[in-house]
Amino acid sequence: MTREEAIIRMQDIGCYNPDVVDRAEWKDGKVTLRTSDGKSFEFTSDSRLDDYIKADDVKAVVIGQRFFSPEILSLELSEGFDFGSGKITVLTSKNCIVKAVSAMLNELRATGCGICTFCREGGYQLSGIVDAMTKPGADKKQLDLALEIAGAMTTSCNCPVGEDTALPVLTALDLFRSEFEAHCGKGKCPSGECPAFSTLYIDPYKCEGNGDCMDVCPEDAIEGKPGFISMLDEYECTKCGKCIEVCENGAIQFATGRLPKLPERLTKVGRFRK
Ligand code: SF4
Ligand code: SF4
Repeated sequence: MTREEAIIRMQDIGCYNPDVVDRAEWKDGKVTLRTSDGKSFEFTSDSRLDDYIKADDVKAVVIGQRFFSPEILSLELSEGFDFGSGKITVLTSKNCIVKAVSAMLNELRATGCGICTFCREGGYQLSGIVDAMTKPGADKKQLDLALEIAGAMTTSCNCPVGEDTALPVLTALDLFRSEFEAHCGKGKCPSGECPAFSTLYIDPYKCEGNGDCMDVCPEDAIEGKPGFISMLDEYECTKCGKCIEVCENGAIQFATGRLPKLPERLTKVGRFRK
């Protein structure tokens, strides 16, 4: 059965709404794509994505619902290439693959109609499993379980929504398994993007002691006074990120390994020495 026939059949039995499946369609050798920041561009057959998208430090490219390695940017793509939803997202070394998959699953499973059990339950389970991997405590067995559920969804869901929901897990795990294993077995997020695996600190060389961070911290986790380097209490901090947003000096940062040497008491700005 073709995708089109499947769509007609699902419409007939009332459990598939084609409007929720976003597809970039080729027409006369062209297809309209969009980047994650909402800019759209017309891609012509046999051109390359890097003719349109300029990016450095690329770790992965997400096209529609599928993950690709960076080489996809420089390949000529012919008419008929499946761009899925047509959304292109470039991930760099600062982006976490597991976190990206978790965010996609939350979005995708919300598009299902809920009637088909494999899509509804599979999406719910996958989302929970991958979300748990962004926090300490997940083990490697979860990787095989996620693959098993996602594999079953591609063959057993009633319509393309279920298959789309499984694709990020299948493609990301195929290409970036070591990053998943770092989260599950070793309790590390290599990119430092998962807050649960990292610690926040204030860079004593960047802080200008204006206290903006203290004003927004809901936990009262930052100590300081005007003109002094602020100090962050990692045990009180919930990593909500509010202080990062207001610090215009970029002084509040995540560390994934050992913290650098920091002041042990309030120190005047410019006076801290290692
Ligand atoms: S960490 Fe940033 S916001 Fe906080 S006092 Fe220092 S410069 Fe100001
Ligand atoms: S991340 Fe949130 S809780 Fe932690 S210091 Fe910043 S504002 Fe306070």
